[in-house]
Amino acid sequence: MNDQHNEVAPPQPFRRLHTVVPPYLLDAIAERGAEKFPKAAAAARSCRPSDAEHRSLRAEGLKRAPTPPDAPAVVRAEAASAGLTRFIHDAQNREELPGVLVRSEGEEPVGDEAVNEAYDGLGASYRLFAEAFGHNSLDDRGMPLSATVHYGQDYDNAFFDGRQMVFGDGDDQVFTGFTGSLSIIGHELSHGVIAHTADLEYQGQPGALNEHFADVFGALTEQYAKGEDAGSASWLIGAGIFTPAVSGEALRNMLEPGTAYDDDVLGKDPQPAHMDQYIDTTSDNGGVHLNSGIPNRAFALAATTLGGNAWETVGQVWFSVLVGDDITTRTDFAQFAPMTIAEAAVQFGEGTDVHDAIVQGWESVGISSPDSRRGNHGSSW
Ligand SMILES: [Zn+2]
Repeated sequence: MNDQHNEVAPPQPFRRLHTVVPPYLLDAIAERGAEKFPKAAAAARSCRPSDAEHRSLRAEGLKRAPTPPDAPAVVRAEAASAGLTRFIHDAQNREELPGVLVRSEGEEPVGDEAVNEAYDGLGASYRLFAEAFGHNSLDDRGMPLSATVHYGQDYDNAFFDGRQMVFGDGDDQVFTGFTGSLSIIGHELSHGVIAHTADLEYQGQPGALNEHFADVFGALTEQYAKGEDAGSASWLIGAGIFTPAVSGEALRNMLEPGTAYDDDVLGKDPQPAHMDQYIDTTSDNGGVHLNSGIPNRAFALAATTLGGNAWETVGQVWFSVLVGDDITTRTDFAQFAPMTIAEAAVQFGEGTDVHDAIVQGWESVGISSPDSRRGNHGSSW
């Protein structure tokens, strides 16, 4: 009790900042958007150095002291063993974190919609993990959830820095604000859960699995909050963050990767949907936001084939693998698929609908094992 700060010790520093808008999309807007979206192009250009700075700070191991939630230590210590605890701040269009505390847990809605959306979004993400998976906040120890809205000027991104969520307002030409999408908030906070569990390295296939898990639990955050079954869900990540001037409905489509947008400035959604289209690249940390489309489709296919609530079936299997002993920081696609099939056999039984739908999902995207039809789960799986 002599050092309450230790009771709420922050998570180990993230090696990387997780941003919502991938670098190749900001590049496209910066390079091709000057005529149609001048404000967006300028915003995209100015966002990139800032993002790069954050990334390099991450790489240096957070030399600049990160800012903890500005709640009294006693409050934070109590929160560590409690349930949902939220702090929402306003950066007032500066790039300083966390900004002014404007709404704390249990307080009534305020006049600022972005504040209320962030508050509700953090709550929706917390409830998915707590109620559907029995996981108490990001660290399973009731870590308080902190967010900052109105970050920067026309800031075209949102990110989770290992301590808190940060939301830009968007430029209003390409991007609306980032607080309105539950799948985006769920995606970003899921990076916190991933960092506290499998901690998949953010590069190549393990990085694409990191992005994949964040999309899975981002989509499930929205489905759980809306009470949507797999068949009626959109499977979109970031629906509604584009303005009507953009030809696109979201950042990503988990069920039909590569179809989320097709715009003369943004280009076409580059996500592959099958291993035949796997993208070998050094950009985007080896395509972490690109090749995640392949496992995304396997998950969404399995969930929609089964119907019902995805968080009760395929979602349970994925969560168990994420927190289980077999996954490592270096797990790749070919290692991950059998883990989910083996877990489905343990939880639901071999040859059950859940087990078979997951086997089928992986085969549909070109990831299968010669053992998959023999039903010999266990060591080989
Ligand atoms: Zn991400």
